[in-house]
Amino acid sequence: MNYRKKLPKYQLAMTIFSKKLAAIETNDWKQWLTDSKLKSIAFRLEEIRRDGNKLLSDTQENIFHTLSLDGLKAWSQHYDTIVASIIIPFTEKDGSKVELSAGQAFNKMNSHPDADVRAEIFEKWEQAWSQKADLFSDTLNHLDGFRLSTQKLHGIENYLQEPLENNRLKQETLDTMWSTIQKNKQPFVDYLTRKAQLLGNDKMKWQDQEAPVLLGNMHEETYTFDEAAAFIIKNFREFSPKMATFAQSAFENSWIEAEDRPGKRPGGYCTSFPESQESHIFMTYSHSMNEVATIAHELGHAFHSSVMWDLPVLNQEYAMNVAETASTFAELIVADATLKKAQTKEEKINLLDVKLQNAIAMFMNIHTRYIFENHFYQARQKGLVSTEQISEMMVNAQKESYLDSLANYHPHFWAAKLHFFIDDVPFYNFPYTFGYLFSTGIYAFANEQKTNFEEDYIALLRDTAAMTTEELAKKHLGVDLTQPDFWQAGINKVLEDVNEFMSLTKDYV
Ligand SMILES: [Zn+2]
Repeated sequence: MNYRKKLPKYQLAMTIFSKKLAAIETNDWKQWLTDSKLKSIAFRLEEIRRDGNKLLSDTQENIFHTLSLDGLKAWSQHYDTIVASIIIPFTEKDGSKVELSAGQAFNKMNSHPDADVRAEIFEKWEQAWSQKADLFSDTLNHLDGFRLSTQKLHGIENYLQEPLENNRLKQETLDTMWSTIQKNKQPFVDYLTRKAQLLGNDKMKWQDQEAPVLLGNMHEETYTFDEAAAFIIKNFREFSPKMATFAQSAFENSWIEAEDRPGKRPGGYCTSFPESQESHIFMTYSHSMNEVATIAHELGHAFHSSVMWDLPVLNQEYAMNVAETASTFAELIVADATLKKAQTKEEKINLLDVKLQNAIAMFMNIHTRYIFENHFYQARQKGLVSTEQISEMMVNAQKESYLDSLANYHPHFWAAKLHFFIDDVPFYNFPYTFGYLFSTGIYAFANEQKTNFEEDYIALLRDTAAMTTEELAKKHLGVDLTQPDFWQAGINKVLEDVNEFMSLTKDYV
């Protein structure tokens, strides 16, 4: 692809600019930043100067960026090539044989209402990834090996430095977040076990975590696209009329490409166009509640960008952890509204479970990924890691994160999860959990003081690329992210759902 070839040119321009900033005398630099025109972008300029200090010569940086097209980036593309060759054979109920792609098998495995179907696909799913495990382990070893060498050549010894800087986050904050989560895991394990019992098992099976809970004669509600739009707009309005008006215009101007047709990749995606100042959404809508939540999620991203268009370009470059805050917040509004409108106990249980699946993803699944990546990077610093070692590391991470509570584990999860193979973002995991709990905090804040919440919320979003995340939380929420209190308060909010789920379901087991 042509744009890839052009990338080193752009990177060279950035290198020269960063190094120029780094070369300025400290006293002159400080003086310069007091200029009224620069004040508003001072934080970003400091970041660029900091990065400039780590850079090698222009020529060396250019060689490195050019080689990276056939190194780091190539390994990531190679992953996609191997995934495209994954085929999972499956026999439908009517006896017809089909070959599922990885994406199709994944959806069926997680959301199929029949437990036997989920179990059968999970077994074949594990097999399919294990058959090509050596190819995936080569890819992972070289991708992260390339990254570690690059960091080392730039004098960076700690592999977490880059992801932390990308997210403008202190290690202390990240550690406090995870340790507070770890201390609170038991009730979530209890929820998983209760859900397993509702599904007729003693312990939760890996493939059943996202299975629907359908009690009594409960069937899942469906929504037309227009119904989804009306529901989202109505409920956004209760928190922020501007968010509602924005969503309405996104629907009216067809910024959401949601047609259900074959050949589309799974998941939702939102991207912004600075020239037209529009944000467009790509997803597949097939009428489920989960997809209503996906629209809300992506609209949350779009709204975030929309309140920043008038800011200096540098101050629009927010990081992934705060991006996932705006989106999760929008999703929460819709999830809670759906719960409120539930007609029966069974429907309420089903919807609470959908909400709690998110919590499990954030506190257990993503924690697994974080633990695994830490262990993998540590091992990779010493040398190549064998396929067996990687799978063992993964199962250990799952056991640690799920407090050893599951009936079975997923040894080749490291191969099946695309996030481990992304080239430009290392540690594509903890920002999700951060965004989830940060937005829970904002949501609690909104419910406490509704009067000028909209203004406060927009002010927070507009600052997301102009300060560190700790400063953002202090300034707008008055909280200290390095302390456990804020995290505990967010987890307590989620625990309310767990408690309700436990009490509603106790008569069913
Ligand atoms: Zn998102």
